[in-house]
Amino acid sequence: MICLGVESTAHTFGIGIIDNKGNILANVKDMYMTEKGGIIPIEAKKHHESIKEELLENALKEAKLTVEDIDIISFSSGPGLAPCLVVGKNFAKELALKCKKPLIGVNHLIAHLEIGKVLTKVKDPVFILATGANTQIIAFEGRKYRIFGEALSIGIGNALDKFGRNTGLGFPCGPEIEKLAKKGRYVELSYVVKGMDVEFSGIVTQAINFYKKGISKEDLCFSLQETLFAMLTEVSERALAHTEKKELLLIGGVAANRRLITMLKTMCKDRMVKFSVVPVEYSGDQGLMIAWQGILEYKRNKKYYNNLDIKKVDINSNWRIDD
Ligand code: AMP
Ligand code: MG
Repeated sequence: MICLGVESTAHTFGIGIIDNKGNILANVKDMYMTEKGGIIPIEAKKHHESIKEELLENALKEAKLTVEDIDIISFSSGPGLAPCLVVGKNFAKELALKCKKPLIGVNHLIAHLEIGKVLTKVKDPVFILATGANTQIIAFEGRKYRIFGEALSIGIGNALDKFGRNTGLGFPCGPEIEKLAKKGRYVELSYVVKGMDVEFSGIVTQAINFYKKGISKEDLCFSLQETLFAMLTEVSERALAHTEKKELLLIGGVAANRRLITMLKTMCKDRMVKFSVVPVEYSGDQGLMIAWQGILEYKRNKKYYNNLDIKKVDINSNWRIDD
């Protein structure tokens, strides 16, 4: 069984193709970027519209397949930016109707977790999902994914990007912040952990104010990393203690950051927990995870998807992982 998955929740439009054994057949994507300033949903939507046909062609070429070889089609139903989600949904829908294949709307966040599991061969970890918009500590307990802690306002990637936006670093600026941090020294920032939750937005405002007062970008990048990552490490450790799980899996675009990886590795070593990171290519938003989630959902509920009226399939922009 081969699934083609379409991702379009935010900045990235991606198409992935995978089989039911987890063999990667194709994974192509293109990201909407800006020189300065953040994501403008309508502009991202235009980007996705302009690139979708070309990416489909490239994905099929990479997989050495034609549309007829695809058995099922999946797309990100949510959570995400509605204008962006609609592009992916309509594209997947048209394709499914044209080829008369089942269509599966999947949860983008669960897709992040499941592709991480299959690629790292981890069984039952505590997950740290550290993406642009989402920061959550998640584990499977009592037959569903549950959120043990999360960022109360903005996600960790957006927190870094917000700092970058206000200091002229462009978007997304995580990699740039990591680079600048290497030359920085520590200045004290607030540290805001509330039980199992973390709150980043006030810290970012504080860092921006320090920047306006003349503290260097380098020092602030270093201190932001140290502070935000330590907060995340603290709540992850508490989740491991509570669930007694023996694996920790880091996922999301921010998983590219070496400093975050080092901090978590150190903590896991102390606890004798196995630490894994999803490879960068599959850590950020992409279509492959949507394709893999399509396979999992379809396998679990074939009858439902085979009889589903595709015309009624829709987006769900506020879909939480624990729904
Ligand atoms: P995602 O939403 O999962 O696609 O991840 C995108 C987010 O990851 C953006 O907010 C980026 O700024 C952030 N990001 C990417 N690379 C790094 C890095 N090396 N360090 C920190 N954040 C990063
Ligand atoms: Mg994502």
